[in-house]
Amino acid sequence: MRLNLYDTDRNTAAVKHIDMTLTDNGVWRASVPENLTGKFYTFNVRHDGKWLAETPGVWAKAAGTNGQRAAIIDFAATNPEGWADDHGPRIDNITDAVIYEMHHRDYSMHPNSGIVNKGKFLALTEQDTRTLAGSPTGIAHLKDLGVTHVHILPSYDYNSVDESQLPSNNYNWGYDPYNYNTPEGSYSTNPADPTARVREMKQMVKALHDVGIGVVMDVVYNHTSQNDDSNFSLTAPGYYYRHRADGSYSDASGCGNETASERQQMRNFIVNSVVNWVKEYHIDGFRFDLMAIHDIETMNQVAAALKEVNPSIFVYGEGWTAGDSPLPAKDRALKENVSAMPQVAVFSDDIRDAVKGHYSNAEDRGFATGKPGNEETVKIGIVASTAHPQVDYSKGNNSKFAYATAPTQIINYVSCHDDLTLTDKLAKSMPGSTEADRQRAARLAQTIVFTSQGTPFMFAGEEVFRDKKGVHNSYKSPDSINAIDWTLLEKNADQNEYYRQLIRLRKSHPAFRMTTADAIARNLVFDKVDAPNLISYSLKNNANGDPEKEIKVIFNGSDKDAVVKIPKGIWRVIARDGRLNADGLTDADGKPMEIKGGKVTVEPTSALILFRK
Ligand code: CA
Repeated sequence: MRLNLYDTDRNTAAVKHIDMTLTDNGVWRASVPENLTGKFYTFNVRHDGKWLAETPGVWAKAAGTNGQRAAIIDFAATNPEGWADDHGPRIDNITDAVIYEMHHRDYSMHPNSGIVNKGKFLALTEQDTRTLAGSPTGIAHLKDLGVTHVHILPSYDYNSVDESQLPSNNYNWGYDPYNYNTPEGSYSTNPADPTARVREMKQMVKALHDVGIGVVMDVVYNHTSQNDDSNFSLTAPGYYYRHRADGSYSDASGCGNETASERQQMRNFIVNSVVNWVKEYHIDGFRFDLMAIHDIETMNQVAAALKEVNPSIFVYGEGWTAGDSPLPAKDRALKENVSAMPQVAVFSDDIRDAVKGHYSNAEDRGFATGKPGNEETVKIGIVASTAHPQVDYSKGNNSKFAYATAPTQIINYVSCHDDLTLTDKLAKSMPGSTEADRQRAARLAQTIVFTSQGTPFMFAGEEVFRDKKGVHNSYKSPDSINAIDWTLLEKNADQNEYYRQLIRLRKSHPAFRMTTADAIARNLVFDKVDAPNLISYSLKNNANGDPEKEIKVIFNGSDKDAVVKIPKGIWRVIARDGRLNADGLTDADGKPMEIKGGKVTVEPTSALILFRK
């Protein structure tokens, strides 16, 4: 191995080549008795008698433009003021989190965001930003909405956006990893200055922590953007990846390769990498892309290592692959295997597809848009895929058994950055509908998600009914497709207020956030109802320490009134006919809205939520 030292991050010749020495345990070492702060370096590896191309290595923690050369910086000097005392929200269980998935550019690029540092880490440091009409945006909007964690699309150094051409404003989701342990340069104000991206990402984390919001990183260890030219391949050719019998790269990621977490150094790499993001950047959680490409043991080691640093950190991921893998299915971190990963959560595609219709068939409808036959799968979502005496898993659309052992293992959602936004999905599946009809359907869909057991997750901008002009895979679409138009904060103010109240309701009622399957089986009781697209249940016994002894939740996904029988007594109305107030709705005279038990009408495409007095 050879070390190359540089004065600048690119376009200059090396000032020094230093041969490295193989020492104990296969470690190659070189020692330079000088202060090299501000210098850059790469390695060359000689393999089978040939020198491979230069690489910043797999452990580069700082880098210059496009991550080509690793940088030597003083990390302590990048810490914002107060960093030593900085910490994210302390939560006992992941089910207490409300997760908001965003992309740096989506969130801040629109001309009406009121944000100065558009598309940058620093966008989420600006306080009190507003639209032209005065509505809070940026951090202020997050605070107002009440989410507990932002989940930010890949922020490590990825390959696709040319950091030397930032004025061209290229967009990418970032699922093409290059340097796993370095922040992405295009989100910094100066990609050529290796300290800028580190400092500015920390400033972002600090500013969010200061208002009580945690930061979840989207991590993509399952594949790299390149094959033979990746930093893994240029460091240890062949080692970090799985291969087919003919020697070609296997491709469970659908992106040309898949990594081999069952190999010791790949597993160590993932564990050490996430721990570094926590220790250096104070990250509060991780979302693993195509998690089932990794093996169960690796994910358990990841969760254990993170919990040891900070018990509030949580881990969730996509419990599936994008293609077949040489890794046996029994070893994969699949949704169906989550019972073997007690500290890991998986996305529920069950509730997602059952509520809004199948993700890959734009016209398909779901429970909330009037298609019958999804009731049992929605119930599977309501009980967070845990065993429940009143749920018949044989009728599940996607899963046929209670795969979760606890609700802390389930992330509920109806849409994310992938596939159509909820707004676009509803437009395509509800031909002839009005926008008001579709917003009403979105409210019902999200009410199901936010009242279900498990952890709720929403896609940024759904609260203002953002769309992506019907583009289902916008990974490199321009800002004109991806940026959230914050003018919608005023246009769809009622929708935003509904989401705000929905989040308040969940946060103020632990009954929606039970932590064990037993508690759900005991306290969540479904009512017998006899109509399609109708579900009614109660949360009883002051579940999970809730102040309410009984909460009644009824969903009518049909386009007609439904009539349900509820027990005699006085019930306080929290949600009805497309309106929701966590403190209770009021009637025209401003008096608390109450109803008596007996036969009650639930309006079309709406939720009825009641507290028993
Ligand atoms: Ca990059």
